[in-house]
Amino acid sequence: MGDVRVSEVSKTFDGVIAVLDGVSVAVDAGDTLALLGPSGCGKTTLLRVIAGLEVPDAGTVTIAGRTLTSPGRVVPPEKRRIGMVFQDWALFPHLNVGRNVGFGLPRGERKSSPRIDEALELVGLGGLADRMPATLSGGQQQRVALARAIAPRPSVLLLDEPFSNLDASLRAQVRTEIHQLLVELGVTTVFVTHDQDEAFVLGDRVAVLADGRVVQVGEPAEIYQRPATRWLAGFVGDANFIAADAAGDAARTLIGTVPLSSPVGGGSAVEVLVRPEEISIVPVGVDASDGVEAEVELVEFVGHDTTYLVRLDGELLRVRRPSAPVLARGDRARIGFCGDTVTWFPTSP
Ligand code: ATP
Repeated sequence: MGDVRVSEVSKTFDGVIAVLDGVSVAVDAGDTLALLGPSGCGKTTLLRVIAGLEVPDAGTVTIAGRTLTSPGRVVPPEKRRIGMVFQDWALFPHLNVGRNVGFGLPRGERKSSPRIDEALELVGLGGLADRMPATLSGGQQQRVALARAIAPRPSVLLLDEPFSNLDASLRAQVRTEIHQLLVELGVTTVFVTHDQDEAFVLGDRVAVLADGRVVQVGEPAEIYQRPATRWLAGFVGDANFIAADAAGDAARTLIGTVPLSSPVGGGSAVEVLVRPEEISIVPVGVDASDGVEAEVELVEFVGHDTTYLVRLDGELLRVRRPSAPVLARGDRARIGFCGDTVTWFPTSP
C-alpha cells in the first residue's frame, strides 16, 4: 500500500496552454482522493501523470516513498505497481472474463491463477471466469475491469470516470458497490470525476481543479460548507448568494442576521453563502414570531425532499426541506435562517 504525493506538476501541450499549472496533491496510504472539476480542467492529464502515461514539464510524483516522476526521469506505467480503470473499461471482447482479469499478471499466471479467482471473488463475480464480457451487464463489466486492475495487487488504484458508461439507474447502485469494495480493499485510490455526488460519496478527500490549478483540497463536508471561492460554492451544490452588511462575525441579510464562519475586517458589504437546507419555511400563521414573509413561486417535490423557490424583496431564494410539500405555488410563507454559520465572499464587482 502506498501514499501518493504529486508536487508542483505542470504540463503544457503544444507549448501553448498550461493544462496543469503547479499542481500539488497528496493521498495517504489506504485513502481515496477524488479529482473533481469541470470538463477540460486537467483531471485526466493529472491521473495520466500519476500513472506515468504522461510526462510533465515540471514537478515530481512519489508513490510509497519512491520518486517515479521527476525532471528527466519517468518510470514507465508497468513498473509503478498501479492498477487503472478507464472510462470505457476497455475489456477485450474476444477474451473471457478470467483471461481479461489475468491480463496484467505475469505470463505464466494469465490463463489461470489464484489471483484471478481471488480478484473475481472480491468484486462479487466468483464463478463467472468463463463468461464472455458481452454476456454481462454494464455493472458486471465494470466490476471485471476493476478485478483486472486489482488482480496484480497494485499499491495504488487509478480510476478515470469509472461510472460514466453506466445509465443513471445503474450508476448509484454500482457506485455503492465500488464504494464498499474500496473500503474493503483499503487500497490507495485516486479517481477522476466531474460529478460532485460521486466525488463526495467516494472521496475521503476531494481535490477540486479548475483551469489546471487546485482550487481547494479537503474533506467533502469542508468543501461543501466552506468552499474557498464563490465559483466552487456553486459548483458543489445549490447555493443562495445573499447580499449582506457584515460587521465582525455577523451579517445582516434579507432573511435576518446570520453568524459568519470567519470575521470580516471592519464593516463591509459582502455576499453570504446560504445553502437551501439552511433556510426554514413555514406557512404564514403557523409561527408568526419567526422569520420574514415571502411568496412561494415554485414547488419541486422529489420524494425525499421538497425545494421551494421563494421571492422576497425581488430576490429568488431556494429553500429545501426534508418533507413533503406544506405549501403551494402562490402561498405566503415565513422563512428564516436555520443553519450554523455561513461562509462569506467579497461582493463581486
Ligand atoms: P474531461 O472531463 O472532459 O475528460 P479533463 O478535466 O479530464 O476533461 P483533460 O483530459 O486532462 O481534462 O484535458 C485538459 C486539456 O488538455 C483539454 O483542453 C484537452 O483538450 C487538452 N489535452 C489533453 N490531452 C492532450 C494532448 N495529448 N494533446 C493536446 N491537448 C491535450
